[in-house]
Amino acid sequence: MPAEQALADLNERLESASPQEVLRWAHDELGSGVALMSSFGLEDMALLDMLWRITPQARVMTLDTQRLPTETYTLFDQATARYGIKIEAFYPNMDDVRAMVEERGYNLFYKGVDNRKMCCAVRKVEPLGRALSSVDGWITGLRRDQGMDRGSIDIVEWDAAHDAYKISPLANWTFDQVREYIDENSVPYNELHDKGFPSLGCAPCTRAVQPGEDIRAGRWWWESDPNAKECGLHIVEAATHTPAV
Ligand code: SF4
Repeated sequence: MPAEQALADLNERLESASPQEVLRWAHDELGSGVALMSSFGLEDMALLDMLWRITPQARVMTLDTQRLPTETYTLFDQATARYGIKIEAFYPNMDDVRAMVEERGYNLFYKGVDNRKMCCAVRKVEPLGRALSSVDGWITGLRRDQGMDRGSIDIVEWDAAHDAYKISPLANWTFDQVREYIDENSVPYNELHDKGFPSLGCAPCTRAVQPGEDIRAGRWWWESDPNAKECGLHIVEAATHTPAV
C-alpha cells in the first residue's frame, strides 16, 4: 500500500499528463502486474489501443457475465484479431448462478433493486475479485464527467479491497475526446454505439438513449433512483477510496 502523501504527489504529477503518459507510468511501475479491465466500451477500446502501442503484450481482462449482447462478443473477436491479444475472460461461478435463478428467476433484475444487485454481485463483482487477485493494478475507463461518484475520482487510487492500484487514465477526458481518438486511430468499437448506446453492459439491462439524455440513462432504465445505477464494480466510499461490494 502506497503512503498517502506519495499517492497525492503522484496524482498531482499525473493530473496534467496525457492518458498515454499515465499508461506509460503504469507499465513502467507495474509491468505485467497491471491489466486493463475492459467492458469493451468506447473508453476501454481507446485505452486498449493506447496500451497496445506501449506494449503489445498488454494484459486485457473482461467480465463475461454470460448475458452480454451479441455485438459485444463480436467485438471480442475483432479486438483479438486486430491486436493479437488473448482476452483473459472471467466468468460467474455457475453454481451461484444456478442457485440464484432457481430461487429468483432468470430475469430477476426486473423484480427489484435488491434482485438486480444480487445478479450484478454474482455475475460481475465476485468474478472481478477473482480477476484482480492476480494483479497489482487495474486500469479502468472511468471519466469524471460520467457523473455519480465518478466526479471525484483520482487518476491513481489505492483499491484496498483488491490490494491493487486502480488507474483511470481518461479521468480528465470528455466523451468527445474519446470518440475523436477512436475515429483518428480507426479503433474497432461496438456497433451498438452507433445505434444510441453510449454505455454498454448486459443485454437485458441496457437500452438505447435519446439525444440529450444522460449517457447512463439506458442502464437499468426501469429503476427510478439515478444514484443506484452502479453495479458495484466502481462504487467508491469517499473516505477510504475503497470499492464497496
Ligand atoms: S447488468 Fe443485469 S444481467 Fe448483468 S449482471 Fe447486472 S443485473 Fe445481471
